[in-house]
Amino acid sequence: SSNPPVLSVRELCKSYASTVAVDGISFEVGRNEIVGLLGPNGAGKTTTINMVLGVLEPTSGAIHIQGVDLSKRRSQALEYTNFAAVYAPLPGNLTVVQNLRYFGMIYGVKRVSERIEALLQEFDLARFRDTKCGVLSSGEQTRVALAKAMLNRPQLLLLDEPTASLDPSTARDIRARIRDFTAKGTGGVLWTSHNMYEVEEVCDRVLFMSRGKVLLQGDPRKLPQEHGKATLEELFI
Ligand code: ATP
Repeated sequence: SSNPPVLSVRELCKSYASTVAVDGISFEVGRNEIVGLLGPNGAGKTTTINMVLGVLEPTSGAIHIQGVDLSKRRSQALEYTNFAAVYAPLPGNLTVVQNLRYFGMIYGVKRVSERIEALLQEFDLARFRDTKCGVLSSGEQTRVALAKAMLNRPQLLLLDEPTASLDPSTARDIRARIRDFTAKGTGGVLWTSHNMYEVEEVCDRVLFMSRGKVLLQGDPRKLPQEHGKATLEELFI
């Protein structure tokens, strides 16, 4: 169609010396869609995210972002203006504003000062503008990382356990911001989490990975019943 998915992954594989970490997975993320990547430790979730990010080279398979073949890009992640990673650690010795300026420059964001001011407001970070990121709490650092990721208005957000170290109220706040992002039609989200309550609340669709393969996929509120289980958690057993 004329409107390709923001992310399309086809027969993606990644092998290390003795491990097949990702074993031929295929899936798509549509615009306005939050897709959860679930599975036990070692299933291959982070490896998948890192290949989509362009920081890890696939052994085989194809990744298209907005219909563009990732392997055909001259350079990888940082220069790719249409997507972003969250939860890459930010330089702790730079202040919030310095971090946002630095990444704004790397991403080539237009009218960067205005964009930064808007994001400081949106993420409730104005009072921390001149605070070094290294001294912020986990939740505050996550908000900075999200603001940084949204600098360039990405069409695909990749979130590897963004709420893992957050208290319930801060985690809820972060989820609301992510939902807001897709609700505005800005883009799609690929999200990993081990919190099944959160997954049910947030994800439009989930992929359940195990040992490098996608075993199941569907609506997180229907998937357990479709497979004779009472809860999402039971899919892990
Ligand atoms: P978790 O939930 O624990 O974060 P995950 O689903 O993100 O797990 P991955 O980190 O993608 O899992 O790891 C998938 C498999 O690949 C694991 O068995 C891991 O040990 C292996 N692996 C990852 N990176 C390497 C590497 N650089 N060299 C060798 N094996 C690796």
